[in-house]
Amino acid sequence: MSSAIALVFIGVSVLFLAGIKLLSSPRTARIGNLVAATGMLIGLFALHDRAGNSVWAHGWNFNFTLIALGIVVGLLVGAAGAYSVKMTAMPQMVALFNGLGGGAAALVAGLEFLPGARSPSGIAAFTAGSMLFATVIGSLSFSGSIVAYLKLEGKFERPCTFPGLNILNGAILLAILALCGWLTFEPADSRAAAVFVGMFSLAVFFGVAMVMPIGGADMPVVISLLNSFTGLAVAADGFAINNLAMVVAGTLVGSSGTLLTLLMCRAMNRPVTNVLFGAFGSGGGARAAAGGVAGAIKPIQADEAALLLVYAQRVVIVPGYGMAVAQAQHQVRELADELGKRGVETQFAIHPVAGRMPGHMNVLLAEANVSYEQLCEMEAINPTMDRVDVCLVIGANDVVNPAAHEDKTSPIHGMPIIEAERARNVIVMKRSMAAGFAGIENHLFSRDNTRMLFGDARASLSEIVAAVKMS
Ligand code: NDP
Repeated sequence: MSSAIALVFIGVSVLFLAGIKLLSSPRTARIGNLVAATGMLIGLFALHDRAGNSVWAHGWNFNFTLIALGIVVGLLVGAAGAYSVKMTAMPQMVALFNGLGGGAAALVAGLEFLPGARSPSGIAAFTAGSMLFATVIGSLSFSGSIVAYLKLEGKFERPCTFPGLNILNGAILLAILALCGWLTFEPADSRAAAVFVGMFSLAVFFGVAMVMPIGGADMPVVISLLNSFTGLAVAADGFAINNLAMVVAGTLVGSSGTLLTLLMCRAMNRPVTNVLFGAFGSGGGARAAAGGVAGAIKPIQADEAALLLVYAQRVVIVPGYGMAVAQAQHQVRELADELGKRGVETQFAIHPVAGRMPGHMNVLLAEANVSYEQLCEMEAINPTMDRVDVCLVIGANDVVNPAAHEDKTSPIHGMPIIEAERARNVIVMKRSMAAGFAGIENHLFSRDNTRMLFGDARASLSEIVAAVKMS
């Protein structure tokens, strides 16, 4: 690789790192995305051939038309998808994009391995191993992400599992490893192409068999895990074709995906093995409890809720998935502004897994220009909940379910929650008594200090804001 190309790749890597750093706060996330995308664009201009020479030195013969076509199609499809996707369908989109990334990494590796193995100079064991690793991990990430996408779209009613599935999966994994090992050391064998196709097919099947039994509620965690797999596949590709930018980008995606997976599991107080093999929140027993809640339910109207809020000194708003469904973030911000004008201290309590993806609530509230100073992490707000006059729960359910620390038999027992029940008054806004994603009943709804405001969160909030303005 020429030193000029190496320098460009170092610059690209710095942009990737800066992008990731900026993504760590909602305030700078937008610019972080642009910085990382700029790095990616610059990386395209540093493309080089296997010998390390810039592709631009080859003249137009290097099939730039195809490369340009790929870039234009990718840009158009990506931009159209990003502009048209609904906020609630974001996890599905992440699953699709991640799957395509894994598939691309597997294709790059396969298209390098087969001709390389047949070439007179052969292929070194390390390079062959990297390519095979990228093929296996990339293709299982592709098929697993497609299944995750279909599950999030609600195409499978219940997890597809049967006794002995884990043993079958173990056997498939062993077969893949054995074929991988053989190909690494015998890439030039006349049967190598057939064995490669067999290994590739098994990896695709393994991705499906791995994700099928996992419950729909755990798909965001699975997507995060598969995302880290895609990153590792890209990094292995980078080693195989000697591309520094791919090594750096892949390693960043791999490590951040792994960290995110572990953080999400910790926020739900569940080991990653329970997510992968537990079929949690997917129907069956958990859903059976979804019908209703024992105890008296006390409804409240919007104007009464407005009065409680206006006469409060301190209000904590807990947003959840329902706020995203209702797209009520602008009305929430308006309510907080109106309360602020009347001297009511208003904060937002953000649970790490509220919604359907990490940072879901932060993104929505940032879009509505809620000030960051008003956002409070769960650990910071909980010790102060006794001093809250009104806790307004907007479309949140599991993340405020006291069963998490009161009921040892609950599937969410041990999950840290926002302790809304300790506030003097709790107003829960949702459309019905239906359960949240975990499919379990919530006794917060029938507590003495809780009132239920039934209806779509956006419509109810508009009514509350109107009543607050009249007060
Ligand atoms: P939940 O899914 O528990 O509850 C959402 C509630 O919103 C529902 O009970 C629903 O009740 C209500 N709702 C839906 N639409 C509307 C609407 N238009 N207006 C008013 N209310 C509405 O959400 P939480 O945010 O509390 O919890 C998130 C769940 O997702 C947790 O179980 C978490 O573990 C899981 N999860 C989250 C991940 C993440 O990264 N964020 C990752 C993996 C899992 P109703 O139908 O009656 O209106």
